[in-house]
Amino acid sequence: MDFNDTPEEAAFRTEAKTWLTAQAPTEAELSGLSDMARAKLWQQRKAQAGWACIRWPKAFGGRDANPIEQVILNQEEAKLNTPNTGVFSIGQGMAAPTMMTWATQSQKQQYLPKLASGEHIWCQLFSEPAGGSDLAALRTKAVRDGDEWVINGQKIWTSGAQYSDYGILVVRTDPDVPKHQGLSYFFLDMKSPGIDIKPIKQISGASGFNEVYFTDVRIPDAQRLGEVGQGWQVALTTLMNERASIGGGSGAAGFDQIMQLAQRLNINDKPAIEDGQVRANLANWYVRQAGLKFTGYRSMTALSRGEIPGPENSIGKLVGAPLTQDLASFAIDLMDQAGILWSPESDALEHLFQSTYMSIPGLRIAGGTDEIMANIIAERVLGLPQDVRVDKGIAFSDVPTGN
Ligand SMILES: Cc1cc2nc3c(=O)[nH]c(=O)nc-3n(C[C@H](O)[C@H](O)[C@H](O)COP(=O)(O)OP(=O)(O)OC[C@H]3O[C@@H](n4cnc5c(N)ncnc54)[C@H](O)[C@@H]3O)c2cc1C
Repeated sequence: MDFNDTPEEAAFRTEAKTWLTAQAPTEAELSGLSDMARAKLWQQRKAQAGWACIRWPKAFGGRDANPIEQVILNQEEAKLNTPNTGVFSIGQGMAAPTMMTWATQSQKQQYLPKLASGEHIWCQLFSEPAGGSDLAALRTKAVRDGDEWVINGQKIWTSGAQYSDYGILVVRTDPDVPKHQGLSYFFLDMKSPGIDIKPIKQISGASGFNEVYFTDVRIPDAQRLGEVGQGWQVALTTLMNERASIGGGSGAAGFDQIMQLAQRLNINDKPAIEDGQVRANLANWYVRQAGLKFTGYRSMTALSRGEIPGPENSIGKLVGAPLTQDLASFAIDLMDQAGILWSPESDALEHLFQSTYMSIPGLRIAGGTDEIMANIIAERVLGLPQDVRVDKGIAFSDVPTGN
């Protein structure tokens, strides 16, 4: 493992830091703007100067940078208080790599630069009530009609559908073959007639995701990615990129913040940090987060050497999300009764833990639940026997549904 920048990486770090420090939006520029407007302003500024989606080819709005340069840019940006650009992550982190692999050259030229600049936001229409962990069991169907496909069915948990311009969609085009073989993959305009978006209200009061209903929605065949029946292979491109982009869990409270809280709050009129049980918990969490940090360094070293990181992303999600949940839960206890008085006017550090407490269970589900990540590590990393699959090799239409 190598912790130091090479001379080229150090030069890139200086260049990135100089640009970011000079160009990060000031408080005055951002005042009065919505979170969306702030995100768009910052993304557009980065794109205009060639600092958006830097790993993409220049022709599509990127910089032809290597993976370690992306890591360095992220590290330097994380040191500044720049607007949160998470609204672009599905489009840039999942839809774009899928387009890069499967779309035609003219589609790439048409759609990718607007994804890089934040002009267009994309969502991911994969999960359904009967197709979550077992995505290939999805039922939304597409029937061909000349040069178009007619879509009917329902998606659920679609993050950002309410403000997205485009979506990536997996549907069933043939129910008479085994489930993975009867799927096809499309992208579509979210303003198409027949799309009905219903926000789902979450415990936090926000509505980050939605139910999306399709009634005779028409999609041109030219917006199909991959062959008819090849949707599962195309979806795997999206899913591999999803796991990599979720791994970080940005914006959540971490070890440094729980240390600050323990130093600041009292238990029995003494600083919580002096309590034996608090100290034991902190030591335990420090060890877990150090393990995660060094696992992250191992994958950065692989990137720096031009290698592809191994299973670190699955491990990062499986260990990182429960760790954050433990920290947040403990912080709420430490705040005593104030812990449940949730308000944006609360102290910033305490509010950060409250928000994390509300949102972190979702991170243990999104992009593959803990159990699915454990299955992946068991089967594909450790080579253990496969999970039982009773529908293997059976036509989807012959699989008993239970209703
Ligand atoms: C914050 C958030 C954002 C999301 N955004 C999107 C989005 O933008 N687009 C989208 O398409 N989807 C999105 N999702 C949906 C997400 O992909 C699914 O929730 C996830 O794949 C799990 O599917 P499910 O909810 O149907 O649970 P299920 O698959 O029904 O699982 C229920 C339980 O059974 C367990 N389980 C299932 N199968 C197995 C197995 N083989 N072995 C062991 N245990 C198993 C699971 O781990 C879980 O505990 C989002 C979810 C969240 C929480």
